[in-house]
Amino acid sequence: MRLLVVEDETRLALALQRGLQAEGFAVDVAGTGPAGLEMARHGGYDAMILDVMLPGLSGYRIVRQLRTEEHWLPVLMLSAKDGEYDQADGLDCGADDYLTKPFSYVVLLARMRALLRRGAPQRPAVLTAGDLSLDPAGRRVSRAGVEVSLTAREYALLEYLMRHAGEVVSKTELLDHVWDAGMDTAPNVVEVYVGYLRRKIGRELLETVRGAGYRLAG
Ligand code: CA
Repeated sequence: MRLLVVEDETRLALALQRGLQAEGFAVDVAGTGPAGLEMARHGGYDAMILDVMLPGLSGYRIVRQLRTEEHWLPVLMLSAKDGEYDQADGLDCGADDYLTKPFSYVVLLARMRALLRRGAPQRPAVLTAGDLSLDPAGRRVSRAGVEVSLTAREYALLEYLMRHAGEVVSKTELLDHVWDAGMDTAPNVVEVYVGYLRRKIGRELLETVRGAGYRLAG
């Protein structure tokens, strides 16, 4: 899952980025309103964490603009204000959830996971493909009822593949959604992790489609 953090307080932005990366998310950061809007429009993100007070363009205006343009990525707004009126403003302008600073990182993570689940209502809370099942809330994976232990990166890779089970997913798409932009990744990093994953979930479930990418059995 690829997240966008739009926050002009550099220390908070970097702390969020590091924390979310440790959970296996790919995370990009924008430090101004206009940069955030541009990245949200074109970056193919699964969700966005958006500060309200930003240089150049407020979080309210960004989310309203995105909704006007029919971009529906889930938005979690952050603000130092704490009046009910502000919260109503945030939700009215099209944000999906709202947190007041200072917030607990654990709460932020729980809200973000809930947003990612709700973000596309056709997605079930627990993902399944054949006898494989993945519970995003508990970050648990099992095959035929037997728990499979994965690293954060293997988990992120499998989650993306399961959300696209039965479809061919290209290496570029996997790099975009599972690894961070600008991260110094070896060209064969996807193949290496696909190899790790196959050993853990079963080789036959994850097929290589020559010249196109990979397909997880649906
Ligand atoms: Ca701010």
